[in-house]
Amino acid sequence: MVVMFHHPALSNTDLPWLRVSEGGFASLGETFANPTEPTPLPAAHWVGCNESLRRELGLPSDLWQQQEALELLTGNRLVANQPTYASVYSGHQFGQWAGQLGDGRALNLGAIQTPAGLQELQLKGAGPTPYSRRGDGRAVLRSSIREFLASEAMHGLGIPTTRALCVTGSPAHVRREEVETAAVVTRVAPSFVRFGHFEHFASNGQIDELRALADHVVTAHFPALQDKQGAERYVALLNEVTQRTAVLMAQWQAVGFCHGVMNTDNISILGLTLDYGPFQYLDGFDANHICNHSDTSGRYAYARQPQIAYWNLFCLGQALMPLIDEQAPALAALESYKQTFPAVMDQGMRDKLGLSGAHEGDRALVEDVLQALQEDLVDYTVFWRRLSVAVRESAHSTHAFEPVRDLFLHREVFDAWCARYLDRLGTANRTSAGDTMLRTNPKYILRNHLGELAIRQAKAGNFAMVQDLLQVLHAPFDEHPTYEAWADLAPEWASSIEISCSS
Ligand code: AMP
Ligand code: MG
Repeated sequence: MVVMFHHPALSNTDLPWLRVSEGGFASLGETFANPTEPTPLPAAHWVGCNESLRRELGLPSDLWQQQEALELLTGNRLVANQPTYASVYSGHQFGQWAGQLGDGRALNLGAIQTPAGLQELQLKGAGPTPYSRRGDGRAVLRSSIREFLASEAMHGLGIPTTRALCVTGSPAHVRREEVETAAVVTRVAPSFVRFGHFEHFASNGQIDELRALADHVVTAHFPALQDKQGAERYVALLNEVTQRTAVLMAQWQAVGFCHGVMNTDNISILGLTLDYGPFQYLDGFDANHICNHSDTSGRYAYARQPQIAYWNLFCLGQALMPLIDEQAPALAALESYKQTFPAVMDQGMRDKLGLSGAHEGDRALVEDVLQALQEDLVDYTVFWRRLSVAVRESAHSTHAFEPVRDLFLHREVFDAWCARYLDRLGTANRTSAGDTMLRTNPKYILRNHLGELAIRQAKAGNFAMVQDLLQVLHAPFDEHPTYEAWADLAPEWASSIEISCSS
């Protein structure tokens, strides 16, 4: 057994940007933020560096050259007087109460003040914590690259998400189905608070702590609700989280994102996409698609996500009940999901179709095209992108829709739908409708096989594709001629990629 020691603690002058601020999650105290040190990893190296996020956060331009930063973001060095911590939460997993969980492999460095506001920094995979249960506290290179790329792809798509500043790797072995190597992702978000944090204190009857947590979330993240007092404040919080979650679900559905593990411990109180595990962006459209190989009942199938989010919100509502007392206002807050989700979803789909205004037959138009896509398992992203191009071209070409039509086996079904669609588009300016669609329907998404190719190269020590994919996914609506092939249909072998929960 190799015993490793931390290098000496860094002083604030070594990494002046990492000055932890007041007002972050750690200000709640040790009941919430349990002081825990990372466990060092040997021979750390950079795997992926997110230059755009570095700039957004105002971090030093030579960050990726700083040995101290590499060691710090791998969990090998600490900053003097700035304790790292793990937080405790509980949750419902696959519909069952799972009891206490917690940051089993995430260590928080604290919140820093940035041009993008106060941001929490978290190292995922930096070693065991008091909440690791039987886990090793580690993350493998494969899943770390997936999280790094997917969260930035989500951001590029304009969908709320936690971000990823970098991935560092180490040759240290990590045992999963096979032996892999360790990696650490530095995640960044205004807050990593989950529904499960509230469920934890509610289930333990720790009502003062529950209130302190809710007050922290309101003060730090929903300042507009601060003036409300007592139960009214927590109803407003539930309402706000319901709205954000509904919007997030509409965005996931519209882009074809399947999360895979929507347990309440993986659901953000800020309505951010959180905890990228066996996620997948749909290739061929299949409403029943299950991306998580371990989800045998299909609880988290693509089409079920909006209902599952609603179910999760009920768990949050239940957890907040000790602060709300009366059921009626809590139920009313939850009920708002049933208006917000369909309204945002309908608008999202009209945007994908380039339709302005809302007409009575719009929902049928959407349902029918999804039915046609499902019937022929047409690639979801390619369909919308080709449709966008076709609408634009149709301003001056009579054959504009041929490339869309070519995607279907049942051409007559597409033809009939397309006639209705063109009728609905009417005399709208096709060039500008097409342009809007091209800014709504991405050309590039993180297809499983692209992630897989980047991972294979990274395992062989070549990180170029990780970096190139990151660049392209940051601007998924733009043309990237060098990477045209990444916008293609998934190859045959992509369907054999199995994504398990192991990470
Ligand atoms: P997940 O479903 O991946 O979000 O994880 C559920 C719970 O298991 C969380 O409390 C995680 O922190 C914990 N966990 C997952 N993988 C590990 C690991 N390798 N070591 C320790 N804890 C883990
Ligand atoms: Mg999780």
